[in-house]
Amino acid sequence: MSSFATKAKVVFVLGGPGAGKGTQCSRIADRFRFTHLSTGDLLREEGSREGSQYGTMIEEHMRNGKIVPVEVTCSLLEKAMKSSGNSMFLIDGFPRNQDNLDGWNRRMSPKVDMQFVLFFDCTEEVCVKRCLKRGLNGSGRIDDNLETLKKRIQTYNKHSLPIIQYFQGTGQMKTIDAGPDADQVFAQVESTF
Ligand code: UDP
Ligand code: MG
Repeated sequence: MSSFATKAKVVFVLGGPGAGKGTQCSRIADRFRFTHLSTGDLLREEGSREGSQYGTMIEEHMRNGKIVPVEVTCSLLEKAMKSSGNSMFLIDGFPRNQDNLDGWNRRMSPKVDMQFVLFFDCTEEVCVKRCLKRGLNGSGRIDDNLETLKKRIQTYNKHSLPIIQYFQGTGQMKTIDAGPDADQVFAQVESTF
């Protein structure tokens, strides 16, 4: 997004922890011309960046499954969009609460064309299994452990589901059954693009 002359196209990608957002987004980015921006990864990067004034705050939030204030997340997103050189973005894991949505609408929605919201629908049981497996396989994430996972799921149910319901109501949502294996899920994803 070198300038805002032509509006950037944005797809929000939502779903529970471990629903497969990251896996599917990198496949979408390979296949179609989107840049994949994982808000979790952007926050992890900022959180471990030497000299970041937000490092401790971000880590604290992640460890407790809490959602980082939107000003921080939105700044990171805008910076990443500008430096990407692209104008098509998959925004993975955002917005996950009302604060996120309001902040985005204030700051970014006039500058972008929202395409749709891709929702990876998955049972809690499968989500938990995948995150724990990811933790055991050495994801290195401070939040892929059972204790934090419980908190992430609580946050998801309490704060993120209402946002997903909101998008469902506006008719902007495309729902994918995220239960099957990655290839089968991607087959569904492809047909929505
Ligand atoms: N997070 C946040 N705001 C965001 C995205 C992520 O605060 O917009 C934090 C939050 O603490 C979350 C953690 O980062 O639990 C991990 O998010 P990620 O999207 O990486 O997890 P996933 O849902 O992919 O398992
Ligand atoms: Mg992710």
